[in-house]
Amino acid sequence: MKVTVLVGGVGGARFLLGVKEALGEGHDITAVVNVGDDIWMHGLRICPDLDTCMYTLGGGIDTERGWGHAGETWTVKEELAAYGAEPSWFGLGDKDIATHLVRSRMLRAGYPLSQVTEALCHRWQPGVRLLPASDDRVETHVVIDNPAAGEDDPPQVAIHFQEWWVRYQAKYPAHRFASVGAEEAKVLPAAAEAIAGADVVLVAPSNPVVSIGTMIQIPGMPQALVGARGRIVGVSPIVGGAPLRGMADACLSAIGVETSAEGVGRHYGGRAKGGLLDGWLVHTGDTAQIEGAEVRSVPLLMTSVDKTADMVRAAFDLAGVAP
Ligand code: GDP
Ligand code: CA
Repeated sequence: MKVTVLVGGVGGARFLLGVKEALGEGHDITAVVNVGDDIWMHGLRICPDLDTCMYTLGGGIDTERGWGHAGETWTVKEELAAYGAEPSWFGLGDKDIATHLVRSRMLRAGYPLSQVTEALCHRWQPGVRLLPASDDRVETHVVIDNPAAGEDDPPQVAIHFQEWWVRYQAKYPAHRFASVGAEEAKVLPAAAEAIAGADVVLVAPSNPVVSIGTMIQIPGMPQALVGARGRIVGVSPIVGGAPLRGMADACLSAIGVETSAEGVGRHYGGRAKGGLLDGWLVHTGDTAQIEGAEVRSVPLLMTSVDKTADMVRAAFDLAGVAP
């Protein structure tokens, strides 16, 4: 069976572990990964969501933190801080830096991100084909009130999503999100093909705004989704009216979407009504009515790989496919 999954970082990577477990050997799993969080820092290209997926599936993730390497050390970060080299708020681990060095060197030599990712995956063997949603720059920026506004300063500024999320922990309300480069970007052709030709497309319980939302706007992506021959089933990242980890509610309120399984499901929309979803899974006890999509409730807590695999089986069931 051919399964394609749209994913962000931590929530997406955990979900992919369940997809692998539910399918076992002999199936073809492709993950289309968000690139909106990607950023240049200290001359290094950092791709947080791709790396989280690669390390998680390859067995190298720090499971407590959910991102970065297990057994990480921070010598380079401390040395950079001693020079006063900004930005100092980003967790750049020594082992992680090796990944970013290889990536940056290959990008500067002219390789596209998709080929760089493939090369990095030779080491990690994630067991899932990891494809960036685009080889082009599509970077999420956040418009906020200028935290340092004096009289002559602009009242609002746009900062990179990472700065808003990691440095400020989303404490400044977002007025809006801007996807820098999105208009000129193209969906990765292999990603479009993987979506269009899959037996089923799953939308992971990832951030609906800055992970999934960013990806599904990339030119060429809407067409691939509309034309997908398999059903598209999404899994709610919102359980009991709150995101499980992180601050997805800060993103949803910025775009005027209620933080609930129904709010997110309606935002994605039913496919029969021109939206994304044929099916929508919500957590036991949550309810949703979405025109043009079928809704089922099952346990959606990814507390173990087995439980996550059960969620994936429920999604297959809703899509009418069996591995
Ligand atoms: P990020 O890029 O690292 O922020 O990760 P994602 O965008 O892939 O996923 C973040 C989302 O995962 C958050 O909105 C959480 O609500 C969701 N999430 C985390 N753990 C769980 C879980 O156990 N079950 C469900 N349903 N969602 C989860
Ligand atoms: Ca992310």
